[in-house]
Amino acid sequence: MTARIIDGKAIAQEVRAEWKLRVDALRTRGMRPGLVVIIVGEDAASKVYVRNKVKACADLGIYSELIELPADTSEDALLAKIAELNTASHIHGILVQLPVPKHIDGNKILEAIAPHKDVDGFHQTNVGALVSGHSKFPPCTPSGAMKLLEKCGIAIEGKHAVVVGRSNIVGKPMALMLLHKNATVTLCTSKTTGLANHTRNADILVVATGKPHMITGDMIKPGAAVIDVGINRLPNGKLVGDVEFESAKKVAGWITPVPGGVGPMTITMLLANTIQAAERTLQG
Ligand code: NDP
Repeated sequence: MTARIIDGKAIAQEVRAEWKLRVDALRTRGMRPGLVVIIVGEDAASKVYVRNKVKACADLGIYSELIELPADTSEDALLAKIAELNTASHIHGILVQLPVPKHIDGNKILEAIAPHKDVDGFHQTNVGALVSGHSKFPPCTPSGAMKLLEKCGIAIEGKHAVVVGRSNIVGKPMALMLLHKNATVTLCTSKTTGLANHTRNADILVVATGKPHMITGDMIKPGAAVIDVGINRLPNGKLVGDVEFESAKKVAGWITPVPGGVGPMTITMLLANTIQAAERTLQG
């Protein structure tokens, strides 16, 4: 068997074209969705991410603003900036690029963002809503992975989904989203014993560990859908996932490549959350 490749780039383009219509509809009603991305410090990779986010907004007709603050910005100054944006009527989404410098309490910053503008979905209010199945801002990376499954017509209900990795931004919300779609979910961590015994039972296998190539073909159930969230740069500069693509694609039924799988969907879902935030302000 050779797996069908899940083309995240193509799906992201298709979905963004659908959402452009929603932006256009809002604009005929005098509303332009607006997103602010704040970055503190000089981390080169983070700067690339935030610029890509801002550019993706512009492509769709969403207003976007990039606020670049120096690394020595105080926590109070950042909180004051967020407070100002919380009340700015032209801004519907606020995102603070993580990680923030060590002298700033990241949690305090996330909690300072008004929940109705928290397009990353990291505020406790939105985390709670996700747990109870009433999420308004599903975290972007796992919701992007869910969109890939939906667009490929991969059934979730009644299937056994195994998620490897339990971070707050990927693994945990991913497990919850699969659960809400009626999968039977197993969540594995670095403390799980006999990992392969779990992964080999997965109809849907989602891997988000940051450990290059840790899942190999022999750990995958024939025909499974494999979603590789990992993005790892090898010493030779090559970007690879957490799944060993070459051996995995011989066993899986579906597989996401790295790059070009989940990655393009993360920004796409951020756009969706921003559009939704703007639509909600019109609904009152
Ligand atoms: P974290 O480091 O926050 O979490 C990694 C998780 O993997 C932890 O829960 C850890 O378990 C688990 N883990 C580590 N080693 C093993 C192992 N051997 N067996 C089972 N579980 C293990 O990472 P993130 O969730 O933030 O990111 C994961 C990957 O996804 C990274 O490569 C990151 O770059 C990528 N990523 C990609 C995005 C995209 O847009 N495509 C967006 C966000 C992340 P424990 O909790 O026990 O330590």
